[in-house]
Amino acid sequence: MRIHDIILKKRNGDALSRGEITHFVKGVCRGDIPDYQAAALLMAIWFRGMDRRETAELTLAMRDSGDVMDLSEIPGVKVDKHSTGGVGDTTSLIVLPLVAACGGKVPKMSGRGLGHTGGTLDKLEAIPGFSVALEMADFARIVASCGWAIVGQNRQLVPADQILYALRSVTGTVDNISLIAGSIMSKKLAAGADAIVLDVKTGSGSFMTESEKARELAETMVAIGEDAGRYTVAVITDMSQPLGNAVGNALEVKEAVEILQGKHEGDLKTVSMVLASRMLMASGLAADEPEACGKLQNALDSGKALDCFRDVVALQGGNPDVCHDLSLLPGAKEHIPIQSERSGYVHAIDAQEVGNCALLLGAGRLAKEDTVDPGVGVWMRRRLGDRVAAGDVLAEFYVNHRTHLTEAIRRFKAAIAIADQPGPELVLIKELMTP
Ligand code: URA
Ligand code: CA
Repeated sequence: MRIHDIILKKRNGDALSRGEITHFVKGVCRGDIPDYQAAALLMAIWFRGMDRRETAELTLAMRDSGDVMDLSEIPGVKVDKHSTGGVGDTTSLIVLPLVAACGGKVPKMSGRGLGHTGGTLDKLEAIPGFSVALEMADFARIVASCGWAIVGQNRQLVPADQILYALRSVTGTVDNISLIAGSIMSKKLAAGADAIVLDVKTGSGSFMTESEKARELAETMVAIGEDAGRYTVAVITDMSQPLGNAVGNALEVKEAVEILQGKHEGDLKTVSMVLASRMLMASGLAADEPEACGKLQNALDSGKALDCFRDVVALQGGNPDVCHDLSLLPGAKEHIPIQSERSGYVHAIDAQEVGNCALLLGAGRLAKEDTVDPGVGVWMRRRLGDRVAAGDVLAEFYVNHRTHLTEAIRRFKAAIAIADQPGPELVLIKELMTP
């Protein structure tokens, strides 16, 4: 079998066999297939697509490129949660302790943020001392006792994705349904949970800006999960603006803690509650959504969810006092207000650009080896549909270095459209895909 023939076959629009897909994935991992041929095949897949069978076979070949976790020593139904990536999406920090406080078991393996979306690992590492470099035995022990824990995805988990994702991100081949589904589901299957709840984003801050595409991605991932014997559901949610107000690592921890303290309502809490309730139902801990929501609200009101967050922070080496004293989080030297230049309504927000502004301020990585500044970012003061007067503060920039400040301000202003009329009414929770 020659990779050259496989590239031609896909370029010409034919479906690849399981043997050809496996040959590609194994060859990439062994280093037998050079980057230029792997990239050419990815581009052919991007243009020609893959059918359901090919996508499922790609996913399984990727899963089997490394270790597959055995979580059987953790008692109960293990449930995982994954978001296809958004801006100001701090749901994991809220959902994990919430579900755990209601008796769920959430062993979370997570990657780092790259590009305009932040990674959950980077956010939690904004807490002084917090470490995601846990031994598997410690990880399992914390999940068994506290209900959740988070560990950095080690190099043995789906090495194929690390290679392919790096190539995709520099060859314009990230936004393809089969490649995204394969990337996400191979990691979910390898991570070993019994049930998987997916948050598929659609809108200006997501990979799938069109909702039709988001639905297809959701259906594809649910089918792959079910075929692999995992109960899988997907919720399609709006990402036409940052989900929470905070975009930046310590800022997002602050917002998540304030939600766990019961201090905030809003879109971030709403999506967190929907995902958490699906996770409780998937774990057999609630029969329906009203029962799940009742239990979750109880965990918030009683302080149990916050306690659960604090316990894991302490066990993972972090300073648990951040849970009542948010000033212990890293901060920024300057808080710079960004004002509206005209009056009107917030009509549209390019959420991806807001993410890029946070990135320019130092909150994220442009390259894998970049370090992040935990204290910087953007705090949104206005949301879609809000009325503003000229001079009103649209957002605050948390800044430590002014290197890219001028560019960030210019791009932020261009990313917020103020018009005489508000935009169309938003639907936050768009659809639920069950098997
Ligand atoms: N997140 C992933 O893990 N992989 C993708 O391809 C896209 C989003
Ligand atoms: Ca947020």
